Amino acid sequence: MEILESISRIKERVAELRSRGKSIGFVPTMGALHQGHVSLVKNARSENDVVVASIFVNPVQFNDPADFERYPRDLRTDSALLEGAGCDILFHPAVDDMYPEPDTTEYDFGQLDKVMEGAYRPGHFRGVAVVVRKLFEIIQPHRVYFGMKDFQQMLIVNKLVKDYHIPVEIVPCSTVREPDGLAMSSRNALLPKNERRAAATIYKVLRMVKMQAGFIAIEELKALVAEEIGREKLLKLEYFEIADLKSLVPLKGWTASKEVIACIAVYAGNVRLIDNVILFS
Ligand code: AMP
Repeated sequence: MEILESISRIKERVAELRSRGKSIGFVPTMGALHQGHVSLVKNARSENDVVVASIFVNPVQFNDPADFERYPRDLRTDSALLEGAGCDILFHPAVDDMYPEPDTTEYDFGQLDKVMEGAYRPGHFRGVAVVVRKLFEIIQPHRVYFGMKDFQQMLIVNKLVKDYHIPVEIVPCSTVREPDGLAMSSRNALLPKNERRAAATIYKVLRMVKMQAGFIAIEELKALVAEEIGREKLLKLEYFEIADLKSLVPLKGWTASKEVIACIAVYAGNVRLIDNVILFS
């Protein structure tokens, strides 16, 4: 696996690959990789001639500087995982190279960032859009692989691609989970033992939601979720929302939409975790 840190070098490299007719699959990440990321790389491997992954902890998408500072970083382990999964090129740029000037572009995502992550992490999706647009510009991939765990992010990137006519196909990939159901996340590494154990409740609650969906009123289901999470003293519910799968407009009743997703954000100690489950599609 080649590791390229300079933007001009990777641009040359992908231009050469494209000129030879090679298809490029791209997996953007912030590192601290786990089997969720590995599954994205494997999907890219199976559908493209060349697989490029990026590792870049993007300061612009962190609304909390302390969260940015403590975000786990381990390039050596990450490189081994990527290579093992079949990645050809790792792009690992420096912050100053990615941001020679502050990027001041503003984005309008309509309803998509007014709820859930958008509402609780102001500026987060603008930061995501800024970096993803730069990465698309640099790598010019044919296909890009995103995890369903960050479902709202995937919809935002989808809108970005449509709004700016970026010629890339977005490939959604299923959420990979730990044996107890907890969605894999780089942040799981920050969980002390007790919080890690408590965090398994998040998916248990989502499974309960999936079973009850359509049978009990949404307000009642929300109260039940708050109660179940509240039972675990180490967990604190930030939001639980039932929303339309495409617009993310929160639903008040089951008949308002045919395609429905449930999304949750929970603090386990001071570590923020998100997850979701599709209820109807
Ligand atoms: P991150 O490094 O957290 O920015 O994530 C990079 C990509 O990996 C994003 O598209 C995430 O949605 C995806 N991802 C993160 N966790 C998982 C998981 N457990 N299963 C599948 N994809 C994931």
